[in-house]
Amino acid sequence: MIGVTENLALIKDLLALSASEAEREPAAVKLLAVSKKQPLSKILAAHDAGQRDFGENFVQEGLEKIAATKGKNLIWHFIGHLQNNKTRVVAENFDWVHTIDSAKTARRLSEQRPAELGPLNICVQVNVDDEDSKSGISPDALPDLAAAVAELRNLALRGLMCLPAARVGFEAQRQAFAELGKMAESLRDDGIDTDTLSMGMSGDYKAAIFEGATIVRIGTALFGERL
Ligand SMILES: *Cc1c(COP(=O)(O)O)cnc(C)c1O
Repeated sequence: MIGVTENLALIKDLLALSASEAEREPAAVKLLAVSKKQPLSKILAAHDAGQRDFGENFVQEGLEKIAATKGKNLIWHFIGHLQNNKTRVVAENFDWVHTIDSAKTARRLSEQRPAELGPLNICVQVNVDDEDSKSGISPDALPDLAAAVAELRNLALRGLMCLPAARVGFEAQRQAFAELGKMAESLRDDGIDTDTLSMGMSGDYKAAIFEGATIVRIGTALFGERL
């Protein structure tokens, strides 16, 4: 258990430092603690130390952790691949979904979101490298999907997310993130305004912050190796 509190403080310092180096406000970069395959005890330790936003990739695992922390005011982000037969429980239990890459999935989430919870926050995942193996919509198809999501009543389109192929070196990492930033700008030119770029993980958060990340998703650097 040693470490989560210390790691959290250290990571927050590093994020703030990267933000200042990038001449951005440290408060503009939110830490999403990626707790997939981490024990509940570490989530509780991070929460005790002030962390509120947590990310999970697997529906069942996420639901168990949400149930176990009910009443503690954690904010839950779904960041894994979402199958259409799992949309209902996600719509009913999570606060954010970062991985929307089809209009059908988005429509199901909107229909299934209980109105009293308020809109579900959505990021559209873009396959910036056009890799066959990766989830995410191709950049060409992004404008239509973003427009479709923006119309859905129980969803709030917050922005874009990417999970680029691993790159070596700061400049190469920046390039992929810069592309996502440009896509958000071009959506803005089309009248679709968003406030979120979900990008950067343990190994490349600094490059993401330099390119405008507002949410960085950090797992192993905070919690250690996954089980
Ligand atoms: C697992 C995961 C992360 C966290 O990765 P780390 O390298 O452990 O920081 C971030 N984003 C997504 C989508 C993930 O699946």
